[in-house]
Amino acid sequence: MKQKEIAALLDEPACAHNAKDKSGCAKLKPGATAGGCSFDGAQIALLPIADVAHIVHGSIACAGNSWDNRGARSSGPSLYKIGMTTDLTEQDVIMGRSEKRLFLGIKQAIESYKPAAVFVYNTCVPALTGDDVGAVCREAQTRWGTPVVSVDAAGFYGTKNLGNRIAGETMVTQVCGTREPDPVPPGIEHAGFKVHDVNLVAEYNIAGELWNVLPLLDELGLRVLCSLSGDARFHEVQTMHRAEVNMMVCSKAMINVARKLKETYGIPWFEGSFYGVADVSQALRDFARIIDDPDLTRRTEALIAREEAKIHAALEPYRARLQGRKVLLYTGGVKSWSIISALQDLGMTVVATGTRKSTEEDKARIRELMGEDAVMIEDGNPRGLIDRVRENDVDILIAGGRNLYTALKARIPFLDINQEREFGYAGYVGMVELARQLCLTVESPIWDAVRRPAPWAATDGQSHQASAKSLSLAAPERAPVEVPSHA
Ligand code: SF4
Repeated sequence: MKQKEIAALLDEPACAHNAKDKSGCAKLKPGATAGGCSFDGAQIALLPIADVAHIVHGSIACAGNSWDNRGARSSGPSLYKIGMTTDLTEQDVIMGRSEKRLFLGIKQAIESYKPAAVFVYNTCVPALTGDDVGAVCREAQTRWGTPVVSVDAAGFYGTKNLGNRIAGETMVTQVCGTREPDPVPPGIEHAGFKVHDVNLVAEYNIAGELWNVLPLLDELGLRVLCSLSGDARFHEVQTMHRAEVNMMVCSKAMINVARKLKETYGIPWFEGSFYGVADVSQALRDFARIIDDPDLTRRTEALIAREEAKIHAALEPYRARLQGRKVLLYTGGVKSWSIISALQDLGMTVVATGTRKSTEEDKARIRELMGEDAVMIEDGNPRGLIDRVRENDVDILIAGGRNLYTALKARIPFLDINQEREFGYAGYVGMVELARQLCLTVESPIWDAVRRPAPWAATDGQSHQASAKSLSLAAPERAPVEVPSHA
């Protein structure tokens, strides 16, 4: 990828960070890829496309970097779960045979799995040695007649976020618009019921949560042409250009897809969330507002009234159990406001929230929900998080998986809210699951048990002190292990 193209991707006019100091789109600084390189970002953005063979062109380490570390689920093919790599070695580089390995790798993938398409991810080593991955992909496509897409996102190009954008850009420029959607099956449309085509952008179907939302859209006659990329198929990505509206779900990382589809095909878009009762209803209303079909608007309001009544009744017993519980939320900042509103719906108090990746617009919404004195955490280092939990007498830490062991070592109830989570919280029914998981976590008897001094320590003053110390972030001091004499 040329430097000029990378600079254009970093300068995203639809991103709020652009208006300020471009902190989200800054030039690469040393160490910037530590939280994930561009290849990593491109791969996690596209890997959920389930019927594609995803080949990592590079050393074996790149493929192992983050393969399938998100719990994105598929309702059909599982080809995306198979890790494929050209496994370049020093010998391949020295002998200049990496392009040949790639060509043969594509052949093997096509012959063995008959994929709908092959995506080839470029990585640092072949980018540095100057492999022409695009040319190899074109040649392979001509030879075997299967679409072969080159995703040029070598790690050193920049951050994970940039990789997400490169992935989105690749889909818009190389895949969207190459096929027309199937016609609506006869008998579905009738007077007062027209099917409207929509896309979901940056929805990854983590833990299958997209399936909580699809029945609602189905009932309203909103056909999802493509969810980029949760539970997607290659042919669905090809038809994205025919949607009447795009919804940007949960992350701004692929905002360039929404903007480009608007510029190229005139598709309007809005930003929404499927977390929390109020936000799910708002998202459905936004679809109806933009499509501007009076019948759809009427049916949307009726569906919202019915579902909200049902869900509020289902949440009532959980509310009684969660009322007044204090939460520290650290999601990294993306759409924190949506989760805050969901937690407040349950009667919980959010004492502080992470805003590291939030835009000014996100922060304004957080202030609206939490008040002007809302505590926003920019730096989510473990020590700081634990201190805040202690200072505010917090009942539960809700954060990403990387904070799991920090919380457990400090004996703090913890709920994983990020991509590795096991449960889907989207949609109205997802809200009940969230409430259930919160209750299970907060009320678990394990917390009392692990916070009590050990029975043998309770009678021993010195050991008791050591036990009390272990309640802090520091790892508990261990007694020396006695080695049996016969060992
Ligand atoms: S693409 Fe580069 S930075 Fe990313 S994992 Fe591979 S070698 Fe590391």
